Amino acid sequence: MADDTVVGSAATSTTRAMFDYAPAPESRSVVDIASSYGLFIDGEFTDPVDGRSFKTISPASEEVLAEVSEASERDVDLAVRAARNAHTKVWSKMSGRERSKYLFRIARIIQERSRELAVLESLDNGKPIRESRDVDVPLVAAYFFYYAGWADKLQYAGFGPDPRPLGVAGQVIPWNFPLLMLAWKIAPALAAGNTVVLKPAETTPLTSLLFAEICQQADLPPGVVNIVTGAGETGRAVVAHPDVDKVAFTGSTDVGRSIAQTVAGTTKSVTLELGGKAANIVFDDAPVDQAVEGIVNGIFFNQGHVCCAGSRLLVQESVAQDVLDRLKRRMATLRLGDPLDKNTDIGAINSAEQLAKIRSLSDVGEAEGAGRWSPACDLPQHGFWFPPTIFTGVSQAHRIAREEIFGPVLSVITFRTPAEAVEKANNTPFGLSAGVWTDKGSRILWMADRLRAGVVWANTFNKFDPTSPFGGYKESGYGREGGRHGLEAYLAK
Ligand code: NAD
Repeated sequence: MADDTVVGSAATSTTRAMFDYAPAPESRSVVDIASSYGLFIDGEFTDPVDGRSFKTISPASEEVLAEVSEASERDVDLAVRAARNAHTKVWSKMSGRERSKYLFRIARIIQERSRELAVLESLDNGKPIRESRDVDVPLVAAYFFYYAGWADKLQYAGFGPDPRPLGVAGQVIPWNFPLLMLAWKIAPALAAGNTVVLKPAETTPLTSLLFAEICQQADLPPGVVNIVTGAGETGRAVVAHPDVDKVAFTGSTDVGRSIAQTVAGTTKSVTLELGGKAANIVFDDAPVDQAVEGIVNGIFFNQGHVCCAGSRLLVQESVAQDVLDRLKRRMATLRLGDPLDKNTDIGAINSAEQLAKIRSLSDVGEAEGAGRWSPACDLPQHGFWFPPTIFTGVSQAHRIAREEIFGPVLSVITFRTPAEAVEKANNTPFGLSAGVWTDKGSRILWMADRLRAGVVWANTFNKFDPTSPFGGYKESGYGREGGRHGLEAYLAK
């Protein structure tokens, strides 16, 4: 990113030029990408019945990475049959102790192959290697380790003396954290004794397919995990299949709504993890520099492709100017570019479609009268890119204050009193997460009691831990993933 000419002083520009980073690209050679991939059904990679396929590209360069099979209804049926068979004959008969051995083995292989997984995730998704290497992949291993530990202790989890699995789980996940969402779905399902058919997002199928290889490497019995690649139609077939007992979906609120309609009137259990429009609330007694780091992490982490992103900054009026000045200075130091460069803070937008959505909502923000600001920023020639952006003078009626942009775009709103902060934070159709920045513990508790959000972070943001449940209120969905609560969704009551 070029020097910030908008807010940076001469001294900062000189210092930055003196200490400019040399490129530090991670090597692509650690990962072998096949030219084409089959579906992973019953422990084997197989060709789709009608031979259809699609391309997956690197969003940073638009280079085609591989040709991936598109599963039809008939392929999904084969995958569900394999999962049913494995459930009845093998997985549900196995002791929890045996199941946990497989999960521990998978977790250890993920750690051993972490560099390969991180590079592949960054290539297919566009996220910086710093994040895939230090956040996504370590968390993926942690979720498998955590649920491996539960597999032989289900009777102590508080769901009765002999909790039983539901059967076959149909799982559909989005593109923003491809491997992490897979872990959130597969680890608790398997620990509880279910088998799965998982559909990754169409723009990020590659790490799920590498995970299929890891299942083979771990000698997981065939049919326990099945991966069917494809787009919305494939997801619809998974959700609607009559022999799926449990549907777990993470994605947009619109698709979540249609899934709720599909399963209504059936005996399937459902969890829906949907969108968000979180308030990140900064009080006048907050440690300002830490809060600025938290704001940056809240909205620019993973290019803002985060369901719980702190996309609305609520800042107390008396410190608003100071916070904004420091935020702009900090934003001018963010480095946008090659996701495989270890110095990169902001990678590529995942797809042309998502970039168009971010552009169009940002244009609406300007048209509605909000003030738009980005640091001076050179965008690469190829691929999909959007600069870190803030909007000031945003009112609660603005669309950029109400709708999920799912990009590196922050809407700034001010408040005067804690009650006004609560009122504005809760004035949204969503309810997934919130952040509170203040020096006072009592205020944190007072706010947390009143915020209608599944997760409230205090003096931090976007922190995840496998022991902690995660999920939303209102249009952010229902059910919880993670922690002991995450097991409940995969057990019969
Ligand atoms: P999306 O809803 O478009 O797609 C999600 C998945 O559903 C993809 O695999 C897609 O192929 C599939 N799909 C599409 N139409 C379908 C249908 N009719 N039936 C079944 N499956 C279908 O969402 P996206 O753009 O991939 O992801 C972004 C959204 O995900 C954002 O709204 C974000 O907030 C949300 N998200 C939520 C959480 C959470 O935990 N709450 C986590 C990550 C992302």
